[in-house]
Amino acid sequence: MRCLLCARWSIPLVCGECDRLLAPTPKLHKIKHLDLISFYDYDTIETLLWAKYHAFGSFILQRLAKKAFRPFFSDLKLEREAALIPIDDRPNAFFSHTAILAKYGAGGFARPYFGCLRANSNVKYAGKTLAFRKKHPRRFICKNFPPEDAILIDDLCTTGTTLLEAEETLEKRGKKTLFAVTLAKAR
Ligand SMILES: [Zn+2]
Repeated sequence: MRCLLCARWSIPLVCGECDRLLAPTPKLHKIKHLDLISFYDYDTIETLLWAKYHAFGSFILQRLAKKAFRPFFSDLKLEREAALIPIDDRPNAFFSHTAILAKYGAGGFARPYFGCLRANSNVKYAGKTLAFRKKHPRRFICKNFPPEDAILIDDLCTTGTTLLEAEETLEKRGKKTLFAVTLAKAR
C-alpha cells in the first residue's frame, strides 16, 4: 500500500520518514477566554484526520495520540483530579476518535470519562462556516462525572464554536473547564 502522507510505497499506513515528521510542537491558543493546546499544523495532518472516517483510522489516531497526548499529559501537573472529557464520543461506524484521544491522556490526576458530553443534534460541521456553526448549535447533553475540573478533548479545533459550547454546557453542571486539547488547530 501507499503511505497516507507522501504516497510512497510503505507497509505501515504512514511510512517511517513521515512518521518522524510527526513530532508534535505544542502551541497555546486563545479561544476567547478558553486556553487551547494543539500539537500539529492542520496542513501536516489534514490527510490523517480524514482517517477517522475509515476503519483504519483508529490506528492513525492512536499513533498521533501516543506521540502528542501521552507526553503532554504525563508532564502535566494538576493539583487535583480532572476529568478528560472527549467531545461527542459517540462511535461512528467503526470507533470514536475523541475517545481514543482521551484514553491517551489518562494518568496522574487526569482520568477519562466517556459518554459524558454528547451532541443532541446531528449537524455536521466539517467544511461549514462560522455563521452556520453558530446558527446550528450541537446542543450537548452532559452526564455527571465526579471531578469538578474538566479538560476538553477533540481532534480538531476550527472556529472554536464547539469547544465554547462544550465549556458552557459543563459550566451549567457546575464544572470548571481548565483548558482544551486538540491534535490540531485549523487556521
Ligand atoms: Zn510517507
